[in-house]
Amino acid sequence: TIGMLAIDNNGDIAGACTTSGLSYKMKGRVGDSPIIGSGLFIDNEVGGAMATGMGEEVLKTVGSFLIVELMRNGMSPQKACEEAIRRIVTKNDKYKDFQVAYVAINKAGEIGHYCIHEGFSIMKYQNGVNENVLTKFYHT
Ligand code: ASP
Repeated sequence: TIGMLAIDNNGDIAGACTTSGLSYKMKGRVGDSPIIGSGLFIDNEVGGAMATGMGEEVLKTVGSFLIVELMRNGMSPQKACEEAIRRIVTKNDKYKDFQVAYVAINKAGEIGHYCIHEGFSIMKYQNGVNENVLTKFYHT
């Protein structure tokens, strides 16, 4: 998945995601990426979130929508991403075998990112500077 979240000088938020799906997927499988609320969700009053990784797990927890709703209720983007990952790993003891990562942004332009396993990174562009940021993670 390639996912993008953006905020402009007016504080307007946009997002997009695209994927080829998972390797060796079953014919007809639809992952999380094309499902608004799972792979991507934006509410311009609150913020946006996107997901990558094992789409079935993101779908079961409606992950991107969950993150935006947590932010609506006052949670930071970082804490909201961590809570969305916590919902997956506490419901599925096979989490050691798959990856899920979330990225989020709020109206203040604060970002959050969290994944299950170490090694995932995001590109952040702000004030003319590109930065490769290692995503915080739940499990080494
Ligand atoms: N999330 C995608 C899917 O499950 C896969 C990916 O992130 O590459 O279809």
